[in-house]
Amino acid sequence: MNGKIVAVFGNMVIAETADDVVQNSVGYCIRSDGARLLSEVIRVRGKLADLQVFEETRGLRVGDEVEFREQMLSVTLGPGLLGNVYDGLQNPLHELAEETGYFLTAGVYLDGLRAETKWAFTPKVAQGDTVRAAHTLGTVPEGIFEHHVMAPFDMQKEMTVAQVAGEGEYAVGDQIAVLSDGAGNERPVTMAQEWPVKRPLNISKRRLMPTEPLVTRVRIIDSMFPIVRGGTYCIPGPFGAGKTVLQHITAKHAEMDIVIVAACGERAGEVVEVLRTFPELDDPRTGRSLMERTIIVCNTSAMPVAAREASVYTAVTMAEYYRQMGLNTLLLADSTSRWAQALREVSGRLEEIPGEEAFPAYLESRIAGFYERAGAIELYDGRTGSVTIGGSVSPAGGNFEEPVTQGTLKVVGAFEGLSKQRADARRYPAVDPLESWSRYVGIIASEKVQRIRNLLRRGNEVRQMMTVVGEEGITVDEYAEMQKAEFFDNVYLQQNAFDEVDAATRRERQQFIFDMILEVVNRDYDFQDNDHARRTFVGVQDLFRNLNYAPVDIVRLRKHMADREQAQAGEGRHDRPAGTPAPQDEQAEGREPSDRDRIETEDRDPEEFWRILDRINAFIRTAGGTAKGDATQKASEDEPKQADEAEPASAVNDK
Ligand code: ADP
Ligand code: MG
Repeated sequence: MNGKIVAVFGNMVIAETADDVVQNSVGYCIRSDGARLLSEVIRVRGKLADLQVFEETRGLRVGDEVEFREQMLSVTLGPGLLGNVYDGLQNPLHELAEETGYFLTAGVYLDGLRAETKWAFTPKVAQGDTVRAAHTLGTVPEGIFEHHVMAPFDMQKEMTVAQVAGEGEYAVGDQIAVLSDGAGNERPVTMAQEWPVKRPLNISKRRLMPTEPLVTRVRIIDSMFPIVRGGTYCIPGPFGAGKTVLQHITAKHAEMDIVIVAACGERAGEVVEVLRTFPELDDPRTGRSLMERTIIVCNTSAMPVAAREASVYTAVTMAEYYRQMGLNTLLLADSTSRWAQALREVSGRLEEIPGEEAFPAYLESRIAGFYERAGAIELYDGRTGSVTIGGSVSPAGGNFEEPVTQGTLKVVGAFEGLSKQRADARRYPAVDPLESWSRYVGIIASEKVQRIRNLLRRGNEVRQMMTVVGEEGITVDEYAEMQKAEFFDNVYLQQNAFDEVDAATRRERQQFIFDMILEVVNRDYDFQDNDHARRTFVGVQDLFRNLNYAPVDIVRLRKHMADREQAQAGEGRHDRPAGTPAPQDEQAEGREPSDRDRIETEDRDPEEFWRILDRINAFIRTAGGTAKGDATQKASEDEPKQADEAEPASAVNDK
């Protein structure tokens, strides 16, 4: 199918053709020097086809030939995707740079998968077996994963295995099976297959309600505004508020199998930064390079607008591919605003009727369509997999009332809004605890979270009141509420991304510290004056801060939590809200319990955590020393074993 160019403007080309060109199919514009520029048909009007070219169109002329394909814009899926850095069209960037020198040459496309690499294939089907689309034909080891080589995703009906390769080493392009439909049609299968990026890849028995918490090990997210495996969330925030840093922390620590970073850079420098830092990062769980379970799909604002539009689809398709193997994948898109701007530019070129702020009227449905590709699924063989999508949004001036933020908020399950004030005050991660929300249930029982939300809201009210009436205008109790809120903010919401212990807080540790904090804030205090209240909370704040930097053997912590729960049940205390998820969750999932927290921080004293905890327990017992005669008595009723303050509380801990 051929056509001729009749107009070129920016990245758009209009071609005339007598053939039946299909919407969203691929075309190559042939430049007079022979370069073939990849493009996508984005509108067909009679004999005219509008093409969006993924390259600089400089040098294209009216009359140049266009070659149309039936194929849609696709990615190649197979072993070897992990660890790669691709552009939005799946060109491996390192190799592209080697091939063409530093500057990318228009019209040079490389295979997304290395053709020469050999993979150790183990067949999982036998001749005569019946298979459906996505059925595992065999596996090859890829890094730390078992990569499933699957029956073609586009198979409409079941087929029979006519031939399957024996155990051995094969390249992605080698034939590893032949499938037969019984009517004499045979289909050869290799380890690689193509899939159109704009069509969701989901071959499953059913969609599952996403409910399993996705532990990012960022406390403010996991405890306050949780996300789940298979869910969606967004991180809107003004320039410099910490969106990219938060995405990187998540990529490193989130308890997920595979992370795909779609870097739609604001500036080229930022993307270069990703490319430089990621290969140097260690995976905290395997101790190996983080890149072994990461794929980066990147674009800079210097790349053509159409390539930017394609990149998020390329990335999400790869995430869906690994979900199809029963893995949990996380797609981080940073930032979706650049992607939306690409949509706007294309729409403008097409002279479509613009909507709000010149974005196309279909902006919201495109955003929704993108996030809808997230989800947890049950595969036909009973395994489950998930794609979680987290997108950052960078609204101009940090104004969340603009179309991209609003369109995103309508569809995502959690909103981690970054605040300029918090970033300016260096309260990182700068997620706004008053504005953010989540529809998901996380690792902390919701009534506990609600208790803390009320405290934060109340603290904020008091602070605002104080700016009007001054410190003298409020009661000691009100002042104490504000101090409690401040205490929680300082020791829990803020987290030091550059400390090896504080940077990532595991599930049990979050649950434990959250409970300890509740004990502190729920205690009755008897303050003489504001200053007394302030000093008391600053003191306990230091204890909790030091606790955050102390490594803990997670197995010992689990045991301590179980003992504590038992002791409290025995005392018949009813003031603690029920519903703390079982601390053994991680083991229940079949994952190895690891004491890596301790191994990684050999230079820190493993007993420090328990010593600080003793002092915190003493603080709670005595209400920070404010408990008067009757209050002291009440305290000793709560903890009869601890009536003597001089006795170390470790008697309980080390039992
Ligand atoms: P954005 O992507 O929102 O424009 P960045 O993520 O690039 O912002 O963050 C800008 C700067 O803010 C970083 O270079 C870093 O100095 C600081 N920063 C952001 N988040 C954190 C954090 N969690 N801990 C420490 N510093 C941070
Ligand atoms: Mg950024």
